[in-house]
Amino acid sequence: MPEFKEYKTFIGGEWVAAQSGETFESEDPYTGEPWALIPRCGADDVDRAVRAAYDAWDAGPWADMTATARGRLLRKLGDLIAENAEHLAEIEVRDNGKLISEMLAQCKYLPEWYYFYGGLADKIEGSVIASDKPDTFNYTLREPVGVCAMITPWNSPLLLVGWKLAPALAAGCTCVLKPSEFTSASLLEFMKLVEEAGFPPGVVNVVTGTGREAGEPLVTHPGVAKVAFTGGGSTGRQVYEQAAQGLKKVSLELGGKSPNIVFDDCVLEDAVNGAISGIFAATGQTCIAGSRLLVQETIHDEFMERLVEVASTARMGDPKRAETQVGPVTTPPQYEKVLEYIDIAKNEGATCVLGGGPAGADEGGGKYFVKPTIFDNVKNDMRIAQEEVFGPVLSVITFKDEEDAIRIGNDVVYGLAAGVWTQSLNRATVMAKRLRAGTVWVNTYRAVSVTAPFGGYKQSGIGRENGQEAIEQYLQTKSVMINTGAGAGNPFVMKVAGSS
Ligand code: NAP
Repeated sequence: MPEFKEYKTFIGGEWVAAQSGETFESEDPYTGEPWALIPRCGADDVDRAVRAAYDAWDAGPWADMTATARGRLLRKLGDLIAENAEHLAEIEVRDNGKLISEMLAQCKYLPEWYYFYGGLADKIEGSVIASDKPDTFNYTLREPVGVCAMITPWNSPLLLVGWKLAPALAAGCTCVLKPSEFTSASLLEFMKLVEEAGFPPGVVNVVTGTGREAGEPLVTHPGVAKVAFTGGGSTGRQVYEQAAQGLKKVSLELGGKSPNIVFDDCVLEDAVNGAISGIFAATGQTCIAGSRLLVQETIHDEFMERLVEVASTARMGDPKRAETQVGPVTTPPQYEKVLEYIDIAKNEGATCVLGGGPAGADEGGGKYFVKPTIFDNVKNDMRIAQEEVFGPVLSVITFKDEEDAIRIGNDVVYGLAAGVWTQSLNRATVMAKRLRAGTVWVNTYRAVSVTAPFGGYKQSGIGRENGQEAIEQYLQTKSVMINTGAGAGNPFVMKVAGSS
């Protein structure tokens, strides 16, 4: 029987309970049993965390630390994550039910964020401006925006924290993190490593709890300068509106309904594998899921036969076992939502060619399992083609030619990612240019890199994470002008270009 854990949260460099003393249980999605107790933070805990972060940002030792020293701390944290990757992966699996194979790979890759941004910390440079004013020395400083609120979902808890935390710390910001109420444990384990790395108190703080009780007061707190949010579109909209009241900087990583487009000149086996990994990996619970599979009509029958054949071999089971290929849906409400969308698709007239309901124990399933499901004959205006399901449900739509694929591919409010399967270089570059998505993959799918900017077009988000571009989200530019001439000049006349 695995140990039942009781966690405290981490605020101002101390392990603390919620001030109310309240807690909530975290459930193992595979067994359906509670396995951990998490502090239920509220507005008073948020206030304490933001004040701690503000003080750390405003005064030493964090504010006085050189960028090189900040970078060194980030790299040390990267080393500690690498040493503890297996432990972190096990906690992730217990808390969110994703496969151990997936979470192990994710946790082993996670240090790269802390190495990459640790290396970037002392390469953030201002510039000397070629001023158009005589006797003026003008230069710019690139300064941290201040306290950053970071709100993350349940599907890849530590990875999505890293996308925000590493660039923010490199920029010199301080942070208050709010994980999903369904998956707080891995972040609390991770905070032990933040403490061990030696970050000064208050630089990184965590408030665990619900979106309403901990998330909202965090977004609206006057001490917060910037909100970095990953989650669903309707929550993202609320967060954007609330942050606007305080004119805060905001970045949003939201949902998707990404087209995965298969042309008749593709390598068929590769495209089949790409279609399957695009939707059934992580039980479809990824923002970049290739949930709309666009198949050229000339290869539809051959492609579908092979797709169903391969997809039907997917092994469901205990996510802690290395051989499992499809695990449970992470949360009870998400499980209900996925089943509801399967009903919607059936009622809309889509043809269910695989799965189409819950998976029982005899199939390797359990409490929150949904069979890998494929709907054929989907029309792009159906709800199943337009709305994010966030589960193992694939919609197949046929198209005639390139123009048709581009039209259907772009005909959705989202623009997070797209996949293209073709052997034609010309076609690949045309599609990459014309698809309105933040990431386009050609002959691959779900490749995400610390070095590659990631984010959404249209309603899939605002701003970019990853790559050098991400650090811009956490910086602001100050222009400094020094008069090197004699006297301050006429007080009633503004200095303009060319005047002395
Ligand atoms: P969600 O319901 O929008 O929740 C995201 C986070 O926001 C959670 O921590 C949640 O807290 C919190 N929250 C809820 N209401 C809030 C409020 N009023 N103010 C502040 N915070 C609030 O999303 P989810 O169901 O956890 O995650 C699935 C969604 O995330 C999908 O739509 C997926 O596409 C998206 N996603 C996007 C990306 C990307 O990079 N674009 C990556 C992964 C996931 P509680 O959970 O505690 O209520």
